[in-house]
Amino acid sequence: METLSVRCNHCGAPLQVAENTRFVTCQFCQSSLEVKRTDSSVFTEEVAKIAENTGKMAESLEVLTVQNEIERLDRDHAPERMEEMSKHASPGMRTAGGCVGIVFMLIFTSCGLFFATEAGAPLIFQIAGGGFVLIGIIALVSMLMRAAGGGGSPRTEDYRRKRDELERQLEGLRQK
Ligand SMILES: [Zn+2]
Repeated sequence: METLSVRCNHCGAPLQVAENTRFVTCQFCQSSLEVKRTDSSVFTEEVAKIAENTGKMAESLEVLTVQNEIERLDRDHAPERMEEMSKHASPGMRTAGGCVGIVFMLIFTSCGLFFATEAGAPLIFQIAGGGFVLIGIIALVSMLMRAAGGGGSPRTEDYRRKRDELERQLEGLRQK
């Protein structure tokens, strides 16, 4: 993994942080730092200072820990996250896509049926038509099952459960 060189905003000590780390604790002065990025530079900002002002340092650090957890979870489950996002973002489009697929497969299957049952058609057409029907039915069944189930893979379920749990924790901390 790529690392970045930044300086502690509190004591100026040089720090190495992983490229996608957002929060880091300075090894030298124990300051809690947020790694901020602009197009041209990377720098740190002390988190504890902001928290002190609000008098909620401990809670804020807890919030940061949970936020870090969520970010790590998202990173570790990038494919599952995409799946989740596509599900949440556009249920309408998914339904539309599913309908088009089902209509297409219905046409595909009827063409196969037509060839398979056409009297006098060459045998090869009838065999191919039969194959079309079979493929069409399998595809239709799997599409319908997916539409009805709505659930993802076990890994996605697991990811969703963990993320919900963390979100709840975060919510609880923020309401303190
Ligand atoms: Zn420091």
